[in-house]
Amino acid sequence: MSRAFHVNSRSYMMPSEPTIVVCVDGCEQEYINQAILSGSAPFLASLQTAGTVLEGDCVVPSFTNPNNLSIVTGAPPSVHGICGNFFFDEETQAEVLMNDARYLRAPTILAEMSRAGGRVAVVTAKDKLRSLLGHRLEGICFSAEKADQVTQREHGIEDILDRVGMPVPSVYSAELSEFVFAAGVSILKKERPDLMYLSTTDYVQHKHAPGTPEANAFYAMMDGYLRRLHEAGAVLAITADHGMNAKTDSVGRPNIVFLQDRLDARYGSHAARVILPITDPYVVHHGALGSYATVYLRDADDARQGDVMSFIASIRGVEAVLTRAEASTRFELPADRIGELVVLGERLAVLGSAAQQHDLSGLTVPLRSHGGLSEQQVPLIFNRKLRGIDDARRLRNFDVIDLALNHLA
Ligand code: ZN
Ligand code: ZN
Repeated sequence: MSRAFHVNSRSYMMPSEPTIVVCVDGCEQEYINQAILSGSAPFLASLQTAGTVLEGDCVVPSFTNPNNLSIVTGAPPSVHGICGNFFFDEETQAEVLMNDARYLRAPTILAEMSRAGGRVAVVTAKDKLRSLLGHRLEGICFSAEKADQVTQREHGIEDILDRVGMPVPSVYSAELSEFVFAAGVSILKKERPDLMYLSTTDYVQHKHAPGTPEANAFYAMMDGYLRRLHEAGAVLAITADHGMNAKTDSVGRPNIVFLQDRLDARYGSHAARVILPITDPYVVHHGALGSYATVYLRDADDARQGDVMSFIASIRGVEAVLTRAEASTRFELPADRIGELVVLGERLAVLGSAAQQHDLSGLTVPLRSHGGLSEQQVPLIFNRKLRGIDDARRLRNFDVIDLALNHLA
């Protein structure tokens, strides 16, 4: 089978062996490094010589949905349209949840491969990604979170709990990700898809730093499943949606810039609206705090906008402020789904809205999060040798399917 198919101005070879793309949510590279050093990830360690280890840049905002959608479309958010969990619709003056496939502006590689006759499977940890990842997909697509509700008609598979032999895990658990891998092994052996996409959750990475016993145990779990997938004959391509950093001061207190409060205090309460696109229904582990915000300005002329930009840039913890035009060019974002300004937090700082809008009671350990430039570098690891990659090419996490299908040695 050497047919090619085309998606979003790129062409992909149909795989001749089952190919599994794994998106390890929040996989700062140091997690793998530390797990290898502690002896917890011997299979990943073996890929240094037996496979290919590269790194690439994820999409900014370094959030889950924009990056998962970039990976499965092979394109940045300017093409697929998903630049966060929320955007502010200026026509209706409402914050709009972008988890629905109607906001997707491009076909996925998964759907197009299934249309071209390939067998495709998708397993995601959280259900919030399922409708986006499964858009127009003819094949298997379900979440670990709702694995007890799968039907042949809707999800292309049934009885997955029995097949996996695990109960439905809590949405806040390491087991939610383990379920994804266990299901992946079962599907690889039974259905033998041409392409399978496995996407985990970053619950563990939000709570535990690289090298901690909990983090190493999580990577040991993944290492074991990756080895099983490898031994069952799959091509493995492992990347991440984004990295993860501590967002605290030296004694573990969260470093938060409450941007809405700061703007209200200086310009009045209706001049600016801060949107945090990390906000989603599952905020317990990060309190809806990340290192990226977008700001909508009301009735601001150029002079006012310039003043707001210099004010925000002067705040401790802010790494950069960009105009809509600058941000949409530099980060390849859809200009109609971001505000007049895009603000990035420094590596150790997060951006909040108004203090009273954040429930921090779920933060039982020092805050770790993502969203900014400091979480942009992610691994690109393969269990095969690759060829034909130009040294000068800036690799992105959304090149992972191209690398896995078009560059196998
Ligand atoms: Zn993520
Ligand atoms: Zn996260």
